[in-house]
This record gives sequence, C-alpha cells and structure tokens, in this order.
Amino acid sequence: MTEQSIIGVGKPCPICKKPSTIESRPFCSKRCKDIDLGRWFNGHYAIETDEDVNANDNMEM
Ligand SMILES: [Zn+2]
Repeated sequence: MTEQSIIGVGKPCPICKKPSTIESRPFCSKRCKDIDLGRWFNGHYAIETDEDVNANDNMEM
C-alpha cells in the first residue's frame, strides 16, 4: 500500500513540470490543479460540441 504514495509524489506537475507535492498531487499546487481542471473541462466541452456539429453536417448531406 506504500507504493501508491511513492508513484504520486514522483510525478511532475503536468502544468508547469515542477515536482508535485503530496498535498496536491499530481500537481505542484492547488492553482495548477484548478488550471488543469479548467483546461480539461473546456476542451472536453469544445470537442463534444464540435463533434455534434460535424455529425449533423454529415447527416444533412
Ligand atoms: Zn504546477
């Protein structure tokens, strides 16, 4: 059960590549965690909307 904590601490922050902390892993700080969450949410939402438009366009043709 100790392996899990080692893996989490070893990963660098995906936002700024700084060493992650135990408190906010896999990010270095809560700020980077918020940034990543916002990016993922925005990207996912944009992709879903884009796909929907494309699918409709294909069907119409
Ligand atoms: Zn960071």
